[in-house]
Amino acid sequence: MAGITWIYDLDDTLISNAHNYSNAAATLILKILEKRKNNGFTNLEEEIEKVKEVKKDVLELKLGFEDFMYNLKQNEAQKALSIAEMIYKIDMEIINRAKKNKFSQKRFPSACAKVYESYFPGCPRAAKKEAYEIGKTVFSSESPFKEGAENVLDFLKYKKDKLILLTKGDKEIQSKKIKDKKLERWFGNSTYIVDDKSAFYFQRVLDSEKIPTLKNVFSVGNSFKSDIEHALEIGLSGIYISERRWDFEKVDNFKEFITLKKISEIKDKYAELTDSFKYAFKLRLQR
Ligand SMILES: [Mg+2]
Repeated sequence: MAGITWIYDLDDTLISNAHNYSNAAATLILKILEKRKNNGFTNLEEEIEKVKEVKKDVLELKLGFEDFMYNLKQNEAQKALSIAEMIYKIDMEIINRAKKNKFSQKRFPSACAKVYESYFPGCPRAAKKEAYEIGKTVFSSESPFKEGAENVLDFLKYKKDKLILLTKGDKEIQSKKIKDKKLERWFGNSTYIVDDKSAFYFQRVLDSEKIPTLKNVFSVGNSFKSDIEHALEIGLSGIYISERRWDFEKVDNFKEFITLKKISEIKDKYAELTDSFKYAFKLRLQR
């Protein structure tokens, strides 16, 4: 069969990353609740205990932010949930407002500092700085490989498939992850860090890699919006990896991509998946 090309997303597809954000948020929430308790707010003990429980799950189960909020809700930690929602909202606002470098290193820490300040208006600069530092821990925390990820990449390399990494985020931070995880073992120089995963960037990657045909090109990722939607738009096949127990992104309207629960399934279902003429044909029919 003609060469198969895989365009892989990095964060939360090959490595776990989102739990670092949940963990930092949980730390900030605990800091806010503890301080409010010390300031005389009552009935916070139970809430604090619930957040500690969820924080344990965050680290153990590597929960992303939406799952983290979901767990707070399930545990009826309403006050903590409000704080988490505020962090999420402000973080999104910063992303949406930025014209360039949407995923700058200052973004999440700034959101943390802002949220802290909104709970304690006029707080000392040092306290705000502490909240900022909590946000910064996401960049120094471990981002381990997803279970089975290295195995899948080894397998695809053995199959002599073409492997491309396309990741969205801050150049310095993403480069560091690529280096730390020694991703050149599988991707060589075919690693791209972009500010946004638009159809334009997918096309640009294909052009610069001189991929002759869209047939047998898969985009693999955990975000429907970033990794799948625009890839489908330009005629690639999509493999959406969703470990979530509930789905945050609306994907009901799209039928022409494949959903897997775990990245390891790519190896297990390789033959089935790469019978891609079927998928390419299906895609063409839908357009
Ligand atoms: Mg991702």
